[in-house]
Amino acid sequence: MMHRNDSMFETTITGSLPKPSWLAEPRKLWPKWKLEGDALVEAKRDATLLWIKEQEDGGIGIVTDGEQSRQHFVHGFLEFVEGIDFEHKVKMGIRDNRYDAMVPVVIGPLKLKGRVHQTEARLARAHTKRKLKFTLPGPMTIVDTIADRYYGDKEKLAFAFAKLLNDEARALERDGVDTIQFDEPAFNVYMDDVARWGVRALERAIQGLKCKTAVHICYGYGIKANLDWKKTLGNEWRQYEKIFPALAKSKIKQVSLECANSRVPLELLKLLKGKDVLVGVIDVASDKVETPAQVATTIGKALKFVPKNRLFPCTNCGMAPMDRQIALAKLKALGAGAVLARKRFG
Ligand code: ZN
Repeated sequence: MMHRNDSMFETTITGSLPKPSWLAEPRKLWPKWKLEGDALVEAKRDATLLWIKEQEDGGIGIVTDGEQSRQHFVHGFLEFVEGIDFEHKVKMGIRDNRYDAMVPVVIGPLKLKGRVHQTEARLARAHTKRKLKFTLPGPMTIVDTIADRYYGDKEKLAFAFAKLLNDEARALERDGVDTIQFDEPAFNVYMDDVARWGVRALERAIQGLKCKTAVHICYGYGIKANLDWKKTLGNEWRQYEKIFPALAKSKIKQVSLECANSRVPLELLKLLKGKDVLVGVIDVASDKVETPAQVATTIGKALKFVPKNRLFPCTNCGMAPMDRQIALAKLKALGAGAVLARKRFG
């Protein structure tokens, strides 16, 4: 009985956590590393182990490497791909021109240089008995975060990346990873393309995988450009309504989304029938730390539309650009809130 109760509302985070200030510049989305060479390799390793321990102690059931080894969730993958020019980055409006970023350029056929995340995946696997989740950027979001002078077609480029993502995902599965999650914030921006080719590209990326597969779709990190954009979306955010039907029909097993402090009408979660839902119960756009009671209340609201055994309390989005101590406090609130929810709704 105890065990059954414990496995309900298993917690996880979206993926990223702040990097310690001795590893990279704090509170930045594209932080510079503080070290180089062997010292950097060592520091990434230390930070990964530190966050695994913090997640375990915070009561997180499905842990991640906190993305401590990559500078940014998209470019961390791209650095391992041949056919991309990182020397001459160009300024590009991304997420439908919500903000500008300096992005690398596709200049030739894409090919993986080798393994992308083997070191940190094997490290994490060797040091935790918890379930391990690994995150990769989704094909559509990559295409939206890179300039292209070779393929000339977004869909073609997305499928080229999906093949590479699939190769790395299969290898991560062999490394012992339990869940592979693709981050697709672009799904909330280009809803028509999601139905046309976005979900198909995602299915190409998970082809042949036997482990759990997930997609994370949010309204972005808590940075100013995103907060300003959210203000333009009106009283009800219904983007999910346009993309959930296609996702519900897809082979993806889990969907991670934003629910805490958001204007997403929760009845939209009904559209994900048959999927595990990673419900965002921690707001990453606010430094105010949730109480366990608030977390449990958000879980209770989602419970009206998601069956108990399919509900996984999670963060709204990655916590990479947050203050480290606040992120840690939020991690603990997530764990404690799930404990409370098990008592309330178990
Ligand atoms: Zn997100």
